[in-house]
Amino acid sequence: MSKKNTKNNEENPENWKENLKIPKKDTRQRTVDVTETEGHDFEDYYLQVPLLKGIFEMGYEKPSPVQEKTIPVALAGKDILARAKNGTGKTASYLIPILEKIDKKKKHIQAIVLVPIRELAMQTSQICKKLSKHMGINVIITTGGTRLNEDIMRLEETVHVVIATPGRILDLIKKNVADVSKTSVIVLDEADKLLSQNFQSTISQLIGHLPQNRQIMLFSATFPITVKYFIQKHLKKPHEINLMTELTLSGLTQFYAFVEERQKVHCLNTLFSKLQINQSIIFCNSVKRVNLLAKKITELGYSCYYIHSKMSQEDRNKVFHAFRNGATRNLVCSDLFTRGIDVPGVNVVINFDLPKTSETYLHRIGRSGRFGHLGLAINLVTYTDRFNLYKIEKELDTEIQPIPQTISTKLYAD
Ligand code: AMP
Repeated sequence: MSKKNTKNNEENPENWKENLKIPKKDTRQRTVDVTETEGHDFEDYYLQVPLLKGIFEMGYEKPSPVQEKTIPVALAGKDILARAKNGTGKTASYLIPILEKIDKKKKHIQAIVLVPIRELAMQTSQICKKLSKHMGINVIITTGGTRLNEDIMRLEETVHVVIATPGRILDLIKKNVADVSKTSVIVLDEADKLLSQNFQSTISQLIGHLPQNRQIMLFSATFPITVKYFIQKHLKKPHEINLMTELTLSGLTQFYAFVEERQKVHCLNTLFSKLQINQSIIFCNSVKRVNLLAKKITELGYSCYYIHSKMSQEDRNKVFHAFRNGATRNLVCSDLFTRGIDVPGVNVVINFDLPKTSETYLHRIGRSGRFGHLGLAINLVTYTDRFNLYKIEKELDTEIQPIPQTISTKLYAD
């Protein structure tokens, strides 16, 4: 913990850290989406001490990447559009700034957090209550499936933060039980679900009850078209945060070889002899073809494993790990394997069969941009594939060139 930037007042003596009840440290290994931070401390955000106490007593030592990106912007009052996965500290990334801004002397509802399902509401409200434990504010949860009367009673008290599913809170607003006319911030967590057909009209009505100058934060794994309409209509120059690694074709050079079906194996053999393959993945469009091709490649004298959906999970794991560890140079597979393609040693991907859709193409050869290695993608294209190739190029806005006589190793081999 660092020393700086805490508001000291009579409520917050200098030695507040000494009496913290910090839970036992979680020593499990963490993935990069949680550890790859810029090195901030929670104290860098000038948070009030009672909130900092809550944060540290949750066992949070330093902000996670999504928290580093979100907290300062949210504190500045900006609308936010964030793509982040569950399990990366997303919830606290919006709860911390919300809580910091609560004025406990004011009696009205100051923040609403909307989530699509009751279980998530429970979980979120538990985190909110723990974080705000030392703040002396009132957080309530209101969802369908519970007694309306109890919610009505609880709303007779001062409530600062409401965690809710959409239907129930709208009901309470319409009944004049919940007054949100001065609510300054609303979060839509799992916005893609919240803005699907089922909820859309409820959310629009709800937003209509809030003041004009409210702050809106959207958290979503994906932003489908329904979310885009909502953004255009309701958000003001939202600040975008994206922590999902997307597949990209950058760094990849893509070629096609125009062949007849019966020439494919011969063509592959030529590629093996000419290219400097560190490791390659070769895709076929069916399990049967995977088996056949793996056999052919072995007969040609090259080392090769194969993997497909008809194998047992145990065998699949074995093959995958062996390939990852470089135990074999080539792997033949069906589309089962496309999402795990970030094997660092792979510098050549070959579509022995061109995939049917551009999405599959992207998943087969695209990489999650971060690592930025160079690579080569080669497509064996038959007469019947020709329109498909054109369609893939168009849809992915990319260029797949005819294969030249020689391919410079600079394009794919470091
Ligand atoms: P979430 O993405 O909100 O579902 O959070 C995933 C898990 O990470 C929850 O158990 C949180 O309590 C925990 N968590 C959130 N922020 C931090 C942090 N800064 N340090 C350690 N754990 C955290």
